Amino acid sequence: MTPADLRIKDNLEHIRSRIASALSRAGRPDRSTQLIAVSKKFSDELIRQAYASGQKHFGENYVQEAISKIDKLRDLPLEWHFIGPIQSNKTKQIATKFDWVHSVDRLKIAQRLSEGRSESRHSLKVCLQVNITGEESKQGCRVADLFELAYLVEQLPHLELRGLMTMPKANASAQEVVDTFRRLGQLKNTLNQEVFELDVLSMGMSDDLEIGIQEGATFVRVGRGIFGDR
Ligand SMILES: *Cc1c(COP(=O)(O)O)cnc(C)c1O
Repeated sequence: MTPADLRIKDNLEHIRSRIASALSRAGRPDRSTQLIAVSKKFSDELIRQAYASGQKHFGENYVQEAISKIDKLRDLPLEWHFIGPIQSNKTKQIATKFDWVHSVDRLKIAQRLSEGRSESRHSLKVCLQVNITGEESKQGCRVADLFELAYLVEQLPHLELRGLMTMPKANASAQEVVDTFRRLGQLKNTLNQEVFELDVLSMGMSDDLEIGIQEGATFVRVGRGIFGDR
């Protein structure tokens, strides 16, 4: 093994043990949170090494870069998650190449993803990204628009609405992160009291995955903690 292989293997083991401890502290079942390794700006070779250490879910933000890696890694049974901002001229490529999209935040994008998916067999699994903190410049639908968006997305033929995703404020205090993630969980519960059957909460990254898990995350998204600094 090369030093890079060993580092990724050690980092993955460390992150997995943080996840396992957090699940146990939260009284949640083993493996009820899955790890997405965020591989943006890291090479296909490093992804291959992470796979060799048991990693299956990978997250990407940039369409061109992601597609070149997805094509090079076609021999591996990986699940690809698109987690970045979505431009409408990229929806076809995202819909064709990815298994999941976490960053759906408006109807037009959802419609285009559904159309783009139509030729393939399985529905594209999606989460709605919610801007809980209400910052002007931030991705995500407003809380006030979430229910209507969820109803409309639910009706699109080639999407499967699975859950919600959020990001805390930059430099948020631990308590602000708790509040943000807790609110996302409450929104999922409220939607499920209506007609929805959402089973996914995508929240928590390298520095706050414990809070995500305490608040019910089923996916955490970790880049630097696995691959190092970009
Ligand atoms: C980059 C990114 C991550 C991972 O961030 P790191 O700082 O690399 O751990 C998680 N979620 C989203 C939406 C991202 O864009």
